[in-house]
Amino acid sequence: PKGGNLDWKKAPCRFCGVGCGVMVGVENGKAVAVKGDPKSPVNKGLCCVKGYHSVMAMYGKDRLTKPLVKKNGKYVETSMKEALDLIASKMKETIKDYGKDAVSIYGSGQWTIPDGYVASKLFKGCIGTNNVEANARLCMASAVTGFLTSFGIDEPMGCYEDIDHADVFVLWGNNMAEMHPVLFSRLLDQRLKRGVKIIDFATRTTRTSMAADKSILFLPQTDLAVANAICYEIINNGWVNTSFVEKHCNFNKGLTNMGYGLEDKYKFKDKPEKISFKEYKKFLEDYTPEKVEKISGVSAKDIKYMAAYYGDPNKKVMSLWCMGPNQHSRGTWMNNLIYNIHLLTGKISTPGNSPFSLTGQPSACGTVREVGTLTHKLPHGVVMNKKHREFAAKIWDVPVENIAPKPTYHTVEMFRALDRGDIRFMWIQVTNPMVTMPKLKRYRDGAEKEGRFIVVSDIYPTPTTDIADVILPSAMWVEREGMYGNSERRTQYFEQMVQPPGEAMSDTWQLVEVAKRLGYEKQFYYKEDSHIEEIYAEYRKHHDNKKHNMAPLEVLKENPGMQWPYVEGKPTKWRFNSKYDPACSNGEDFHFYGKPDGKAVIWQRPYEPAAEEPDAEYPYWLNTGRVVEHWHTGSMTRRIPVLHRAMPHSYVELNPDDAKRMQIKTGDMVKLTTRRGQIKLPASVNERGVPAPMQVFVPFFDENMLINEITLDSFCPISKEPDYKKCAVNVEKA
Ligand code: SF4
Repeated sequence: PKGGNLDWKKAPCRFCGVGCGVMVGVENGKAVAVKGDPKSPVNKGLCCVKGYHSVMAMYGKDRLTKPLVKKNGKYVETSMKEALDLIASKMKETIKDYGKDAVSIYGSGQWTIPDGYVASKLFKGCIGTNNVEANARLCMASAVTGFLTSFGIDEPMGCYEDIDHADVFVLWGNNMAEMHPVLFSRLLDQRLKRGVKIIDFATRTTRTSMAADKSILFLPQTDLAVANAICYEIINNGWVNTSFVEKHCNFNKGLTNMGYGLEDKYKFKDKPEKISFKEYKKFLEDYTPEKVEKISGVSAKDIKYMAAYYGDPNKKVMSLWCMGPNQHSRGTWMNNLIYNIHLLTGKISTPGNSPFSLTGQPSACGTVREVGTLTHKLPHGVVMNKKHREFAAKIWDVPVENIAPKPTYHTVEMFRALDRGDIRFMWIQVTNPMVTMPKLKRYRDGAEKEGRFIVVSDIYPTPTTDIADVILPSAMWVEREGMYGNSERRTQYFEQMVQPPGEAMSDTWQLVEVAKRLGYEKQFYYKEDSHIEEIYAEYRKHHDNKKHNMAPLEVLKENPGMQWPYVEGKPTKWRFNSKYDPACSNGEDFHFYGKPDGKAVIWQRPYEPAAEEPDAEYPYWLNTGRVVEHWHTGSMTRRIPVLHRAMPHSYVELNPDDAKRMQIKTGDMVKLTTRRGQIKLPASVNERGVPAPMQVFVPFFDENMLINEITLDSFCPISKEPDYKKCAVNVEKA
């Protein structure tokens, strides 16, 4: 940019769930610069590399600008009108031939709130199928079921301001330095100012471990055992906050040995059962620090070290986690176990005492969890509840019978249904499942079978557009208007700042146009120039109560976002604490109103092994994840030259001792083999991250080295979120 003449406008960053406020500089109709918004309480003027370069993602040379339709195996350009006509007629034909549950939509935590809202209204309210899922199932579903089982209501009780009050931060399998860099810088800042302690508890040494005061490594899956050992220590050292627990908690146990969802036919239904404190205490006897040391590889001394911080009445503790505990074959349990620690000690819902589940995507909370774009969800409530269906049907102006009372498919099962032919039409928006699905080949082969019709809305060609029958060019981020909701319940608005290229259209308006063609003009009454305002006003009606009220649009426009519940002109920073949360109504200091009796649940959750563990044939653990330079599958950030140069391709991280034994150096090609297949990647030894012995780590951003070809599609039986962090692999020099 030449500078000087830029028109600066505020927006939330597009590239992660931290939700930093940015100022976008526009010059001659082009977004040319980004700076952190100093008024944003999230990032206070700072950004990370992705944020600073984010506008460049709109200007890659191969932007999709025209709709493409596959004819005789080749893509041919067409007009937007014809493409939308074709989609609507294919949907009608599929519903006529195979029934309404044969059409589906698969969206994203990068959907704006209006995108997800109209998708849910069209499919659940108008068409009458619950075939609505989103990629947040692959990253946040265990967090959701963790909240629901422990508190009966979703999303964190605390907020980022907890960072300014906590004395100790425990990071559970969470490489915050790369995944939530700006938030991590706030932890480092507090250490400079107040000398806080940062403990990194992980399976691999990362940039986060290097910056932490203490790094503790555990063997994959054994975080379940360590969390229980911490609870054992809290109880056996007399660190339980007895009055808090007696007044505000119940003890439950659920089913165990529920499997890993590897077969197509499975039935999981947890059966909660109340237990006494005595029974819970007895259960924990299997988890003494000494016994857990043998399972986890974490010394009893280090377990006691962590427990002592949680148990110290003079220390405020914040636990932070993201994909480690969530992408876990017992992900719901891991979330429950971290809450157990905070509930036993009463360190919850007060400034600085905060179990805080972070999100990965900019609107995993705002759209997927709050709008409810998962098969069982409605914006306010669940499809299984008659009252919730009646409430949604009234706002949507549809007969209540339209909303089906049963969930259909979660994400992995939705792609299995596509493979089987139970689903015949799938519309994919703002996500790249042909890079992210575990055990990828099976799901790609299924999607490519005869008689399937796939629509993909995106901004660039990807492995997912490769399987499409119709490709729709989408408008990206500030090329349209919308809102995102970040990890701390903050809803942020952004206006349209520049024109999208060619015929590119927002995902919201694509859906509205198709809905009208399907005959739902009455429900999709929105006008093109005011539809975002109309949709948001309608959406707010679903949350019109003290527990979830969303701020009006004028407030969002004037502020760097606003946290819900927004009550009497004020955001709620700490939920369930009657000092801060106007929804508390039991006359006590705390009220966990998500549960009918107002009490949170401490769960008895045992350690169970992973779905697939190393053996003689496949002796290593394979772990997958992200890098700071790239957003998820890299389809946008790999088109930003400076980020692509900084991290041009994927690699496999090896432990230096393993590499030495196999005579592998950085850059040598390595062959990874699992029961699903093989892949070759260059080695990385002692560079960015260092896995523990007999473990390897591979980032998933590179579509030319698809690590998910060889991962396993096991998932948590409660959340149905896949475990991308663990399967067995053989490692050889290629
Ligand atoms: Fe954007 Fe996340 Fe970086 Fe903030 S930390 S600038 S939200 S990518």
